[in-house]
Amino acid sequence: MIKEDIKKAMLTGIVSGITAAVTLLGLLWGYIFITDWYRDYQQKRIKERIALTPPDKRSGDFCPECKSSDVGKYFYGLYRPGMADSATKEAIKNKKLIPGGCTFSSAHPKYRCNSCSYEWGNFK
Ligand SMILES: [Zn+2]
Repeated sequence: MIKEDIKKAMLTGIVSGITAAVTLLGLLWGYIFITDWYRDYQQKRIKERIALTPPDKRSGDFCPECKSSDVGKYFYGLYRPGMADSATKEAIKNKKLIPGGCTFSSAHPKYRCNSCSYEWGNFK
């Protein structure tokens, strides 16, 4: 009788262990599926936005909005102040060069007005 009880308890333990493992795997799969889907969705949206942006070849000599000639030029890629030479640092300080960040697409702006903050131009 006691032997039967032990057998029953062991079986219940194994079944609940398997149930827990399956539930955990299901949750993990769900998490991976949702994060993958969300990443794909975001990339699709970014691609659509880039595709919808028309080419902008306006020059950076002056601001198209306020005609100010105080214009900064964006540069993209990793920027670390310790690595830049003094001329670059001076240009960044005077807002003639603007670090645009690591992420870059053809739709990113080329110029920024230091008077009215208007951004224009792209790399299409
Ligand atoms: Zn302006």
